[in-house]
Amino acid sequence: MNMIHAIGIQKKFNHLEVVKGISLTVAQGEVVAIIGPSGSGKSTFLRCLNRLETIDRGFIEIAGDVLAASDEPDGKVRYAAEADARRICRRMGMVFQQFNLFPHLTVLENLIEAPLTVKGVRREDIVPQAEELLGKVGLADKRDVYPSRLSGGQKQRVAIARALAMNPDIMLFDEPTSALDPELTGEVLKAMRRLAQEHMTMIVVTHEMAFAREVANRVIFMDNGEIVEQGPPAALFGAPAQPRTQTFLQRML
Ligand code: ADP
Ligand code: MG
Repeated sequence: MNMIHAIGIQKKFNHLEVVKGISLTVAQGEVVAIIGPSGSGKSTFLRCLNRLETIDRGFIEIAGDVLAASDEPDGKVRYAAEADARRICRRMGMVFQQFNLFPHLTVLENLIEAPLTVKGVRREDIVPQAEELLGKVGLADKRDVYPSRLSGGQKQRVAIARALAMNPDIMLFDEPTSALDPELTGEVLKAMRRLAQEHMTMIVVTHEMAFAREVANRVIFMDNGEIVEQGPPAALFGAPAQPRTQTFLQRML
């Protein structure tokens, strides 16, 4: 089954066309890495998928449910009814470059906040699940600590566990290690690698080429609001066909 089916996504900010008709289909359990220069529209495209940005044109289906569809020929976009759109978007967890933890809540409270308030899950049901998730990201002992006491790598692992506590079918990562000191990226990538091994459907915008090469099933190179080239990591990194991909990869090495 396709977990994400996006066709012809367009997004403008004022008159600046940032996403220029991108189509992307992601199968269940697939790990897709998106690479590309700064300003190429990677974050905006990701944010369009879960309605953090509204699209100007295109079609988005998440796990079989239509989130947005534009009528032709005028292209006016219709979103699913609000309650449906929220339910659809809750199937996607997102992790940002900046961790955005709630500073006044402990680690455990950060994890259970949204399940309690948004999903109405019972506390006695979510606490054991949250504890298990903390164990998975190697932070069981930080359960009752406040975020200010954590390193960047630990904060980001809490952010991953917090997203997972909502039981998403899809995880979107937007440069999750870019704000971290180099020695802290490994522990975050390890948590993501583990998630991939458990067959979570994932889209990961990243500059970590080694991670993309090793963990992704498919790598997409974006430039200037478009997908320039995509393929299995060995092909895209080993023998990029497009000059723009070649230039970008040479600069990354
Ligand atoms: P990337 O993630 O690949 O670095 P972005 O999607 O963040 O690229 O940005 C693509 C372009 O869109 C950039 O030129 C950026 O300045 C612009 N942009 C992003 N968000 C906004 C916004 N909210 N308002 C106006 N311009 C934006
Ligand atoms: Mg970005």
